[in-house]
Amino acid sequence: MTVRRGYHFFQNPGPTNIPERVLRAMDRGVIDFNGAEFKAISGECFAGLKRIFKTEAPVLAYAATGHGAWESALMNVFSPGDHVLVVESGFFSMNWAMRGESFGLKVETLPNDWRLPADPKRLEARLNEDREHRIKGVLAIHSETSTGVAHPIAELRRAIDAARHPALFLVDTISSLASFDFRMDEWGVDVVVAGSQKGLMLPTGMAFIGVSHKALAAAQEAKLPRVYWDWRRLLEGSSQSLWNGTAPVHFFYGLAEALRMIEEEGLENVFARHHRLAEATRRAVEVWRRNDGPEFYCLDPRARSDTVTAVWLPDGCDADEVRAIALDRFNVSLGGGLERLKGHLVRIGHLGDLNEPMILGSLAAVEMAFEIAGVPHGKGGVAAAMEYLVRGE
Ligand SMILES: *Cc1c(COP(=O)(O)O)cnc(C)c1O
Repeated sequence: MTVRRGYHFFQNPGPTNIPERVLRAMDRGVIDFNGAEFKAISGECFAGLKRIFKTEAPVLAYAATGHGAWESALMNVFSPGDHVLVVESGFFSMNWAMRGESFGLKVETLPNDWRLPADPKRLEARLNEDREHRIKGVLAIHSETSTGVAHPIAELRRAIDAARHPALFLVDTISSLASFDFRMDEWGVDVVVAGSQKGLMLPTGMAFIGVSHKALAAAQEAKLPRVYWDWRRLLEGSSQSLWNGTAPVHFFYGLAEALRMIEEEGLENVFARHHRLAEATRRAVEVWRRNDGPEFYCLDPRARSDTVTAVWLPDGCDADEVRAIALDRFNVSLGGGLERLKGHLVRIGHLGDLNEPMILGSLAAVEMAFEIAGVPHGKGGVAAAMEYLVRGE
């Protein structure tokens, strides 16, 4: 076995680095989850989450992965046979929608090139055709982690409004929340799906869901069977201390600390830091592109996500070999291509608890791995990233 020294650079687009402060906050004994102390901690957490979701509506939590929250979102508002429209964005959009099919929903895809942001005009046109309002929900991914494309959630909302369509709007923010701008209430999102292990810097295993009043009303009528996931159970007596089973108190200790860290920095500053580190990464990719080197998977420069950059390797190059070199030689873990993109993409995550030297170190490892793997590229990507971080332009 290889002996590794120094820090493991964890540069996947989720999970993300867990700050020492969060780890320390969780390093303590158990307390009674029915007691006053836990009530205070969980109350503080839910209030903080609402500020991050930018909502006055309830935010609920589960001991689950994001996949659990996906299912919760669908089964609480729909009935068997309901028609839902998923805005195609990539691997994650299709995965979410596929779950709907398993529950007996009729899932339609709004086709979209994975390399481009969704077109609100196309959504508006499709909803305009649906005069009988058969479509009960529109599903979209904010940051499509498999492609590095950020989708225009506010504009998609405006398209629904322009078509005067009553469908619920469900949005996955798993790799955007607490990393770049998202506004549940202002953007009229009815159901928000989020996870613990990306922008919120926690271990995997807790999932969150924001529920608008319109979505709560839909939940009263929805006919899909549900028990563990049932929002009504979690909101009984409008108390959020209610939990299905034993509350994961350690997650709440960690969450309280993560929220404190975000508020100390200021959410807008957190966004600015993510933008800066993302932009530094993009400057490196622009240089690597020379000599017919790797290119951005996302073709629209304005739609490149501030949390993950997907880099498309030239034909004949193996992205997984580059990733293996980065990991084995330099102890840097990178994301790969999912499903049909496997072997073609290196995905550099730049979200969560991250600073300039961490991103520069990771970019240097990528550049060295290109060199070792024989991937054609322009040299000096890291220097371009440094230049940007110094000058800020
Ligand atoms: C990571 C991710 C998921 C899956 O989250 P899990 O916690 O692994 O289930 C879903 N959607 C997006 C956009 C993601 O980035």
